[in-house]
Amino acid sequence: MASQEIEALSSALARLPGLGPRSARRAVLWLVKHREQALPALLEALAAVSETLVECQTCGNVDTSDPCGICTDPRRDARSLCVVEEVADVWALDRARLFPGRYHVLGGRLSALDGIGPEDLNLAALLARVEEGGVDEVVLAMNATLEGQTTAHYIAERLEAFPLRVTQLAHGLPVGGELDYLDEGTLAQALRARRPVG
Ligand SMILES: [Zn+2]
Repeated sequence: MASQEIEALSSALARLPGLGPRSARRAVLWLVKHREQALPALLEALAAVSETLVECQTCGNVDTSDPCGICTDPRRDARSLCVVEEVADVWALDRARLFPGRYHVLGGRLSALDGIGPEDLNLAALLARVEEGGVDEVVLAMNATLEGQTTAHYIAERLEAFPLRVTQLAHGLPVGGELDYLDEGTLAQALRARRPVG
C-alpha cells in the first residue's frame, strides 16, 4: 500500500490521456527514483504552464499570449488559413513550419454519435474571420476519419458563399489517420498536394 501522497499523484497522472493507472504508477516510481534530476524541472514547467497558458481568442491555439505567437507573427501569410480539429494538430503542422499561413482550431469534430454539432465547435469565430475579409484560401486539414471528413464537407458548404479557395489535404493520408501521429514527410506531402473541395 503506497502512501497517500503517492496515491494522489498516481491518480492525478492516471487521468492524463494515454496513461492508465499502471503507467501512472510506473511514472511515479520513476519520478521517486530520479527526483533530484527530474522533479525540479517538471515542477517549474508545470508552474509556468499553470500561470501563463491562455487560449488565443482569434484562432483557438494555446500559447502564453493572446493573440498567440502565430496570429501575431508578421512573417506569416494572413491570407491563408488552415483549419484543424485540435491544438495538437497546429503543433504537428507547425513543428516543421509546414504551413506558412495562420490557423483556426475547431476544438473537435462533428459527431452524431457523441452528440457534437456545429454549435459545439469554434465555427462562428471561423466564419467571422472569413467575413472580415483578407482571407484568400482556407485549407481544411481535418483528420482522415469519417467524422473529420464530414466536418470538412460541412465547413466547405458554409464557406461556399465567400469568394475564396477552399482546399483540403490530399488523400495521401492513411484512412483513419490523425494528423498528430503522422510524420512530417507525409504531412508535407498531403499539404503540398492539397486540392479543391468538391
Ligand atoms: Zn492565435
